[in-house]
Amino acid sequence: MKITAMTAFHVELPLEHAYWLSGGRLTFEVLDATVVKVETDDGVTGWGEGTPWGHTYVAAHGPGIRAGIETMARFVLGLDPRNVLEVERAMDLALPGHLYAKAPIDMACWDIIGQVAGRPIADVMGGGSRTPAPIASSVGAKTVEETRAVMDRYRSRGYVVHSVKVGGDVDRDIERIRDVEAHRPRGERILYDVNRAWTRQQAIRVMKATEHLGVMFEQPGETLDDIAAVRQLHAAPVSVDESLVTLQDAVRIARDGLAEVFGIKLNRAGGLTRAARMRDIALAHGIDMYVMATGGTVLADAEALHLAATIPDRHRLGVWACQDMITVDIANGRGPRNIDGHLHLPEGPGLGVHPDESALGEPVAVHRLP
Ligand code: MG
Repeated sequence: MKITAMTAFHVELPLEHAYWLSGGRLTFEVLDATVVKVETDDGVTGWGEGTPWGHTYVAAHGPGIRAGIETMARFVLGLDPRNVLEVERAMDLALPGHLYAKAPIDMACWDIIGQVAGRPIADVMGGGSRTPAPIASSVGAKTVEETRAVMDRYRSRGYVVHSVKVGGDVDRDIERIRDVEAHRPRGERILYDVNRAWTRQQAIRVMKATEHLGVMFEQPGETLDDIAAVRQLHAAPVSVDESLVTLQDAVRIARDGLAEVFGIKLNRAGGLTRAARMRDIALAHGIDMYVMATGGTVLADAEALHLAATIPDRHRLGVWACQDMITVDIANGRGPRNIDGHLHLPEGPGLGVHPDESALGEPVAVHRLP
């Protein structure tokens, strides 16, 4: 079997509500998605998606995904998509770094592997749990009252896991965290996501002031050095996501005890192949995990769900349904959808959901074997 064509589509995904990242410093209204179709000489077609969470979040660029695919295409065409390690090495040779541009191709290869095996990706990766995965909400940086209103809206849809964005004004962050904890029903899991917004002194002040509440913070500093610097000065558990890009990052975090939780974002890590290695490092070091896309449609949510299903239930803290935050649906309601705040692993082969090609518009690039 060999890859005969790769077709890239550019799809704009408007957000239902404009989004303010932690600290209120960044806002955006539309996500820039790249959907990739990978065709083979056997007639099996795989699909991948790459959607950064805006261009201001981290070093991942929507148009850069399409440019990266353009650069890598001639190195990938002709390879057997079932040999994902060969595809990975070919992409690394063609374009060092730029993991987010490689993720959609890796995803499409896994979709093909699953279809050829007639089984869901999670099963061909070694066995997928059918326990429904709790979806984490995404509660933007707001006032105390707005935070309550947004969380109640999510709760009415069954959500029991929340990612509340903080970061910025120290006093307001402390006030919001206290208020959210005071209103938290039993059994809910809440992560306070700083999205790198605090300086070291801000991190220490908020984390010390909320120590008695036993809450967990995500990415409480810009870099792993910042997180390490305050590590001994507070008692809160920490999740790292923006600074978890490479396998070397995962090893450092695990070995140096910088975090108790990994927030694995598949497109940031370069796709399922690489993210699965991070999962194994986490499991070997007693580190629990959230698994998510950085954004996108039901395709991206489904990919993350497959990896999440390969994690023992007690170590898998949650997934995400970015599909609930956008106003377009490229798969006509198919694929894993929010059911009482959870996603259920699709039983179809491969990814278990494919886009409606007519919803993608005209391709922006078609790369074919000569
Ligand atoms: Mg985060």
